[in-house]
Amino acid sequence: MNYHSHQDSSVKASFSDALLASLAPGGGLWMPDALPKYSPNETARLGAMSFADCAAELAANFVDEKFTAADLKNICRDAYNFPVPMVTLAGETLDPALAPDAEDFVLELFHGPTLAFKDFAARFMGRAASHIMGKTKQRRTILVATSGDTGGAIGDAFLDQEGIKVFILFPKGGVSKVQEQQLTTMGNTRSNVKAIAVDGSFDDCQQLVKQAFGNNALCEEHDLMSANSINVGRVIPQSFYYFWTSLQAKAAYPSRPLVYAIPSGNLGNLTGGLIAKQMGAPINRFVIGNNANDPFVDYLSTGEYTPRPSVPTLSNAMDIGRPNNFPRILALHGEDYTEVTKVCWGASFSDEETERHIRRVHTETGYVMCPHTAVGHLAMEKFAEDVSDPFTRITVGTAHPAKFADSVERILHTDIPLPEPLAKAMRKKKRMHVMSPTLDALSEYLAKHA
Ligand SMILES: *Cc1c(COP(=O)(O)O)cnc(C)c1O
Repeated sequence: MNYHSHQDSSVKASFSDALLASLAPGGGLWMPDALPKYSPNETARLGAMSFADCAAELAANFVDEKFTAADLKNICRDAYNFPVPMVTLAGETLDPALAPDAEDFVLELFHGPTLAFKDFAARFMGRAASHIMGKTKQRRTILVATSGDTGGAIGDAFLDQEGIKVFILFPKGGVSKVQEQQLTTMGNTRSNVKAIAVDGSFDDCQQLVKQAFGNNALCEEHDLMSANSINVGRVIPQSFYYFWTSLQAKAAYPSRPLVYAIPSGNLGNLTGGLIAKQMGAPINRFVIGNNANDPFVDYLSTGEYTPRPSVPTLSNAMDIGRPNNFPRILALHGEDYTEVTKVCWGASFSDEETERHIRRVHTETGYVMCPHTAVGHLAMEKFAEDVSDPFTRITVGTAHPAKFADSVERILHTDIPLPEPLAKAMRKKKRMHVMSPTLDALSEYLAKHA
C-alpha cells in the first residue's frame, strides 16, 4: 500500500516512510491510496479469528515489503495481549443465549497497560516503528502532545526502546491526578521517556509540537517524529477493533443494525471506525459525542467547520478545539458534507449533563463510566430517541474510570479501586520539566536531553 498527502495526491510515500516522517512535505496528512474491501464471506472468516490474528491480516493491507505476514502476526499477538470485551451495563458479555434482548453495550477498550484505548494504536505503532528501524541503526526523537492518555500509551509503548527518545508535552495542571502520575513516573532518571509540563493548554502543547515539526533545523538535528494521531501509524490500527468487534456483534445479533457511539476529540478514533466501515465492517452509523469543545458536532449540524480555542472540561482528553483528523474524515468522503452526514451523527454535552449521567447509570445499573465514555453513551441515548426499531448500540469505552478517579469519586461519592498498573505508578516519584509554551524553551530542552 502506498500513501499520499491529503493536500496533494502526487506526494507519495511507503507505509514505513509515512510512519517515520509523520507529516507529508508541506504539512499534509498521509492517507492510504485505496482501502481494501472485504466481502461478507471474507469477513466471516476474519470474525472467527482471535482479535490479534484478525488485526494482523488487516494490517497486511496497509504496510510495505518490510513486513511479512509472520512479522505482523508476532507484532499483533505481542501488542494485543489483553481482552477486548463488550459488556452490558449489567455486566453481561456479548452472548445472545444469555442476553437475548440486550441492546446497549460498552466496548471496553481500556484493558491495556495504560488503561485507555490509546494502547491499541500506540502498541502497534511502537512495534511497527522498531521493526522498521530495527537493523538500520536509525534514531528518532518522538515529540508527543497529550491531553492525558496519549502520552502514557506512547511512553509505555516506546519505553527502553533503543534509538528512540520520547518527550511528552502535557498541559500543566490540565490532566487528571492519575494521568499525571502515570506520565511522570516512566522509567528512571536515565529513562528514554521524559515528561514536560507546559504552562498552557493542550492546544498550546499541540501547537508547539506543530511548530517544532515546521522547523527544518530542529527536525534534522533531532530526527523528530510525531506519535500524535496526525501519524498514520496511529490511525490505521484503530480500524482493527471496529472491524473485529462489529463482526462479533453482528454474529450475535444478525438482524439488527449496528451503531457505534464514540466520545471524540481529535477524531482519530472515529477515523479508524470510518476506515473499518469502508473495508466492509457491518457498521450502519457512527454517533459522535463531544463535550463543550464541539467543532465537529457543529459541523455535522450546520456544514460549517469552525476550529476554536479549547476550553477545559471534565472529559479532558477531548478538550480539543481543532481536531487534527478532520481533513482525513473529509478525504474519506470525497470532501462531501452530505456523505459525511450519512455516516456520522453527533451531539454535545455539558459537564453537568455528563456528571448527572455518570450518577444515573451508576444508580440504575452499578456500572461506573469514565467521563469520556459517559459523553459517548449520552450521545447514543440521544440518537436512539428518534429510532423506533431495535438496533445494537455499542458505546466505545475509551478509558478506565480509575484514570479519572479524582472526578468520578467526587461525582459518585464512592471509592474507585485502582487496577494494579495504576496503583504501582501511584507509588513512584514524579519527574517532570516545567516549561513555558515557546519553541525556544523546547529547543533548549531538546538540545540538552535529546
Ligand atoms: C484520546 C481520548 C479520546 C478522544 O479520542 P480522539 O481519537 O482524539 O477523538 C476520548 N476519550 C479518551 C479517554 C481519550 O484518551
